[in-house]
Amino acid sequence: MKILTVVGARPQFIKAAAGSREIRKHHQEILVHTGQHFDDNMSAVFFREMGIPEPDYNLGVSGGSHAQMTAKMLIGIEEILQKENPDALLVYGDTNSTLAAGLAAVKLRIPVFHVEAGNRLGTLDNPEEVNRITTDHLATLNFCATEDALDKLKKEGLGERSYCVGNIMYDSFLYFADKPWDEPHILDFNNNPVSIPNEFYYMTCHRQENTYSNEPLTEILLAMNGLDAPTIYPVHPRNHDRAERMVNRENFKNIILTQPVGYSDSVHLTKHAKKIVTDSGGLQCEAFYAGVQCVFVLDYVVWPETMVDNRNQLAKADHKDILEKLSKKQVINSDYKPFGDGHAAEKICEIIEKTGG
Ligand code: UDP
Repeated sequence: MKILTVVGARPQFIKAAAGSREIRKHHQEILVHTGQHFDDNMSAVFFREMGIPEPDYNLGVSGGSHAQMTAKMLIGIEEILQKENPDALLVYGDTNSTLAAGLAAVKLRIPVFHVEAGNRLGTLDNPEEVNRITTDHLATLNFCATEDALDKLKKEGLGERSYCVGNIMYDSFLYFADKPWDEPHILDFNNNPVSIPNEFYYMTCHRQENTYSNEPLTEILLAMNGLDAPTIYPVHPRNHDRAERMVNRENFKNIILTQPVGYSDSVHLTKHAKKIVTDSGGLQCEAFYAGVQCVFVLDYVVWPETMVDNRNQLAKADHKDILEKLSKKQVINSDYKPFGDGHAAEKICEIIEKTGG
């Protein structure tokens, strides 16, 4: 089968690393990068380090409003689909690249395979929710990361074409977590290497809700700055200036700002951190896989499966709330494995084979 895969953003590269490795054992794959994330440390580093094949096409679409971005991608992807005429399109997650590719393919009557389908927040206020719902309903095959996501799709009448395969991010996490952390390549904002303290907290924060103004980010940093070990905070490029300004203005000496790190470094920071504070969907799951306690700073739950026994707790962007949640103890039940066994990519290929796509 000729499968055309479309990726565009950091979490999709991480998923595609596991996906492409398996797909290429059984099928011909054409890889399209929409260009949504384009900095070396948000894109190229993942292709290099994770062995993701070079994209066959790069549309170079980034920036602009959601509509502008989606529209440009739709046009570019349609042209590629017409030229390549694949047997199926495969997309991951919930970005504008996912939506644009799904829409372009379905109108050309090309079957759509959607990986990480069925996650629901229950509000259309969240742009990713719109992308998820639409793509799930366009798809011929939906691959869910959890039973809860599969249940959501069954309730929406999509049960017959939806399967729970586990979280493909877990495949990638295990692949890198098992390798030694030989040469961390973590740079500060002046391109100097960062030496990693023996004990540290790991934080990421990039969502609009926490970074659109000074206040939420300052509250999060205030909490972290008061902890008993430094915090390593790789900053998303769009928050670089604000993060630097806040740390300097408040004289937060216990915060180590770094450029975004590659996946192997992120996995090993996760494994070795005392605790993790994040607003990232992916990182909270990785904290869970590593058995490291996490505090998720947002107003809503993204992965309800992780919110058990204080393993992951929701906190407001308020330093007192974050510190209170960090002070709690987690309990780990090692039999509880809601994200599957780390073989999601294999299961996806088996189902494609069995159903004929
Ligand atoms: N990540 C990374 N380098 C960083 C920060 C995060 O490799 O500097 C990884 C992290 O381990 C997780 C993924 O990027 O797997 C999360 O991506 P992001 O926060 O951009 O998106 P979200 O998870 O919110 O969709």
